[in-house]
Amino acid sequence: MAKACGYCSIGLKFSNTPLFGGGRLATGETLCRACRLKLKNVSPALKLRKLTLDDATERLEQMAVKRAVVNVAGQLEKLAGLKEKGLLTQEEFDAQKKKMYRQCFLP
Ligand SMILES: [Zn+2]
Repeated sequence: MAKACGYCSIGLKFSNTPLFGGGRLATGETLCRACRLKLKNVSPALKLRKLTLDDATERLEQMAVKRAVVNVAGQLEKLAGLKEKGLLTQEEFDAQKKKMYRQCFLP
């Protein structure tokens, strides 16, 4: 039976090997390697076995939101630079900004 990551639902081929598989959660679900690494990057001492799927989901979602906000902030700075140089009008800048905010808060 093929297993899937409890968070992103990607199929797991080698769920039992430390290299390719993810970690197992307290509630029995398995995370893929990418999701496990994302969690480890933020909390290196984190023990997956002590997390429930809800805990892991919450942490991964907080990270995704933070990353999206950082991306948008960087893009806004670039746009502001273009506006200062006169390459974008205020209206164009506002329209782009609105578009980015919408993307940021979509799943
Ligand atoms: Zn995953």
